[in-house]
Amino acid sequence: MRQAALVVSRTLGMLAAEVKEGAIPAKLDEMAEAYIREQGAEPGFLGLYGCPSTLLISVNETVVHGLPGNRPFESGDVVSIDCGAVLNGYYGDHAYTFEVGEVAPETKKLLQVTKEALYKGIEQMKAGNRLGDISYAIQKHAEDHGFGVVRDLVGHGIGKKLHEDPQVPNFGKKGWGKKLKEGLVLAIEPMITLGSYRVKQLKDGWTINTVDGKPAAHFEHDVAIVNGQPEILSTFDYIYEALGITANA
Ligand code: MG
Ligand code: MG
Repeated sequence: MRQAALVVSRTLGMLAAEVKEGAIPAKLDEMAEAYIREQGAEPGFLGLYGCPSTLLISVNETVVHGLPGNRPFESGDVVSIDCGAVLNGYYGDHAYTFEVGEVAPETKKLLQVTKEALYKGIEQMKAGNRLGDISYAIQKHAEDHGFGVVRDLVGHGIGKKLHEDPQVPNFGKKGWGKKLKEGLVLAIEPMITLGSYRVKQLKDGWTINTVDGKPAAHFEHDVAIVNGQPEILSTFDYIYEALGITANA
């Protein structure tokens, strides 16, 4: 599963250098598909539930499930790229939100807090804790900063299928829900909004936008419980290397 996750990590790292003003989402999708196949893996999303693309590219008010189109990125855009891959029968699935050019300060803050919320959730993924401990940690961090926590979409178990039980909400109560056990693998993925957490699906049957049109951020890791502790199978290191930034930037 780590190998499948790292196929996605390397693909996001390759894309990190390409997400800039004027770049065309549909072109990034083609590049990602080729790069995943070069690594001996297959795209994880393409064809699944009828998904027409390798990447889901969600710009600004699109929270998740944006289909890669032909509108070039502009300075000020925030671009979430979600990518899946299958290797040796196992899925990897992770996501990062990139900045294009000059992004408004409150939107930059949204991205930072969403990424922090992801790690706050991951810290709670220990044997003996409960699912609600992860959910609560994510929700608390986002709401403490005045941001919205999307309710209609959640994280999930991952393995031989992209989406397995249990669902992993980004909101919930400490000490509630299923007990976390050794060997569990989850895709933890906070979807956090600048304004209201309410979302709507567009008529294409995929794109999920904020109702108020304000931007959203989405960061996702695949995480396993190993020796009772959370071990992150995916990595943002390839992205940081491509962008020339450190983990805390
Ligand atoms: Mg994903
Ligand atoms: Mg996912």
